Amino acid sequence: MPSAPPIAQIALDIPVPRLFDYLAPGLTKADIGQRVRVPFGRKEMVGVVMGLLPDSSYALHKLKPVLEVYRDAPALSTELLRLLNFCSDYYHYPLGATVMAALPTILRRSQPVQVKLASAWQLTAAGLTLRTDDLPARAPAQRALLDHMRDGQAHPGTALAAICRGYRSIVKAWVSRGWAAQIIQPATLHPHPAEADAPPQLTAAQQDAVAQISAAFAHYQAFLLHGITGSGKTEVYLHLVAAALARGGQVLLLVPEINLTPQLTGVFRARFPHIAIATLHSGMAEGERLTHWLAAAEGRARIVLGTRLAVFAALPQLALLIVDEEHDSSFHQQDGLRYAARDVAVVRAQQRGVPVVLGSATPALETWHNAQGGRYTLISLNQRAIAHARLPTISLLDTRSCKPDEGLSATLLAAIRSRLDAGQQSLVFVNRRGYSPALMCFECGWSAACTRCSAKLVLHLREHQLRCHHCGHVEQVVHACPACGNLDLKPGGFGTQRIEDSLTRHFPQARILRVDRDSTRKKHSWPDMQRAIRKGAADILVGTQLLAKGHDFPKLTLVGVINADSALYSPDFRATERLFAQLMQVGGRAGRAGAAGEVLIQTQFPEHHLYRLLQRHDYAGFAASLLAERAAAGFPPFVHQAVLRAEAGRLDTALAFLHKAQCAAPHMTGVTLFDPTQAAMARKAGAERALLLVQSPTRKVLQAFLSAWMPQLYALKANNVRWNLDVDPLEI
Ligand code: ADP
Ligand code: ZN
Ligand code: ZN
Repeated sequence: MPSAPPIAQIALDIPVPRLFDYLAPGLTKADIGQRVRVPFGRKEMVGVVMGLLPDSSYALHKLKPVLEVYRDAPALSTELLRLLNFCSDYYHYPLGATVMAALPTILRRSQPVQVKLASAWQLTAAGLTLRTDDLPARAPAQRALLDHMRDGQAHPGTALAAICRGYRSIVKAWVSRGWAAQIIQPATLHPHPAEADAPPQLTAAQQDAVAQISAAFAHYQAFLLHGITGSGKTEVYLHLVAAALARGGQVLLLVPEINLTPQLTGVFRARFPHIAIATLHSGMAEGERLTHWLAAAEGRARIVLGTRLAVFAALPQLALLIVDEEHDSSFHQQDGLRYAARDVAVVRAQQRGVPVVLGSATPALETWHNAQGGRYTLISLNQRAIAHARLPTISLLDTRSCKPDEGLSATLLAAIRSRLDAGQQSLVFVNRRGYSPALMCFECGWSAACTRCSAKLVLHLREHQLRCHHCGHVEQVVHACPACGNLDLKPGGFGTQRIEDSLTRHFPQARILRVDRDSTRKKHSWPDMQRAIRKGAADILVGTQLLAKGHDFPKLTLVGVINADSALYSPDFRATERLFAQLMQVGGRAGRAGAAGEVLIQTQFPEHHLYRLLQRHDYAGFAASLLAERAAAGFPPFVHQAVLRAEAGRLDTALAFLHKAQCAAPHMTGVTLFDPTQAAMARKAGAERALLLVQSPTRKVLQAFLSAWMPQLYALKANNVRWNLDVDPLEI
């Protein structure tokens, strides 16, 4: 009698916390981690084989069979499945949905993948013995091609075309003479060849950092690389990457912004021109992302640069993880599987037994706390890498005594003028895009608000629109107050467009460039703008935090900050931490290449201790004062939190669900369950929002509580309520 087929446990993207059993004739252990097509209800779905069992707890005759195994891409390794299992447990999100969320979209579809193939050309042994003199003297193109291909590597057609447009007929002739061979290989990751660049001599501090971290290559260790802006963290990464590559490993480097990947990719490609580098971020076309994902999964790409989703990339030879700007909030995924990529990176390093480097000038308070407690090894870079570059001087401009004119104070205007005269660049930082964050009636106090959110509409004067930055709602600008009929509606506050106008009036001859999400929407516009800025094709930059992150503009010597104060008195306990980081970061753009930098901050609260510490560039002092405050108030990192959120058409419905959830909660010592409340942003995109906060001084107790609570939550009737759990929430 033939033995019964095994049972496959399949992860499916279904919002229930379990796997699904299928009959799996013909499947073997090698198929674990492989994608399969299975019937589900009346549809078919793609899932991932998580395990094979001899038997099922369900009646066998009710089980359906696996329809197809796609063996077209490498199976997810047990190691990666273990990481996904951890994330599912820790974030209390269904395992199937967690696993599927880690795959590029194309792999989630029920069809086999087609990999784009391209031709590459390589010299044969005979071709390698050729001397330039063997080629016709009057054929410089042939000679150039031969020189280029002498390294014996396979060169994609796109790369050869850059040397000689008519390369095809030449290499084809060589193939027929046995000098070259054509190779069909997966399309190259980055088609244009990079210009090679030589590493600079490391500073003593950089050398020390590289040495300390390289010494840990054989085991898990987490490092916090705390380096002031311009201290040369990138150079430390580059050396560590070189060391990891030399050991035959792959490296994963996470960055916060899609916008930073092209720039960083350029830096890495120049340093490692012969190494395949994959990039992974949500802005890539599906097919492109698949090509890069596969290159990483097959071990061909040795370096992977990406945003938070790249933390789940399959990397068979992973030897080192780096998280740049680790404090950045964009490492937090805010829907679906709500995870913090920085934390997942640390767990991944721990599971794999390799080092992880968290780099920042202003580490997240949690990370700093971990370093203080010895869990992470702290490495500091306290000097700027370029010998004569110093940190900028930071001055506070009191806007109570010296009223700004259309947002710009006389001192700031004079400083910009002096930079214009000296042929240097200025940056004006405004943390709001649009013209003005509000359109107001000063007669009756009305202001334009979104009907679907508890938020004001932002005036976009260029587009003659009022826009909601939370739900995307758009309206035409109204010209009379709907409440009292007043025809004189005025903008309240400053956005980038308004400051741009103001600057244009003051400096009509200057070249002013606005950089925000509106002006950079088109795919290549921001990289193009960066090149222009670096070449000196702009005098004054106006922009949001997009401008603050990680850029190196050598001609920039002045940074002005317009409206930072609101964060000082925000109900969000993390607001000052974010503000400090943001100001350090944007201030760090000034004077990077040697010319002294200056930062001018317009504020109504120049005596605030945050500004005082900022003036001294004293992150450690600021972190110490914040930690003392948080300890006294019982906030993270001294407690661990989770938030149960509920959304419904009516607030009552959302709150009622949370009350039921509260009643269903297991009693556990060391866990505090607060009463359900309305969310800080009570309405968003038409949904009323409420939340329930849970916290505990220890992570373990909180996790035990959540594990016991979740089944109760799934058992609750949640009619017309959408709910989710957010572990280690960034905002409450
Ligand atoms: P960070 O990321 O720490 O803000 P970067 O890595 O961008 O700093 O480095 C700041 C500047 O210093 C860059 O222009 C970089 O090329 C330069 N730099 C870094 N290390 C060195 C070095 N060892 N010698 C000379 N220049 C360096
Ligand atoms: Zn009015
Ligand atoms: Zn809205």
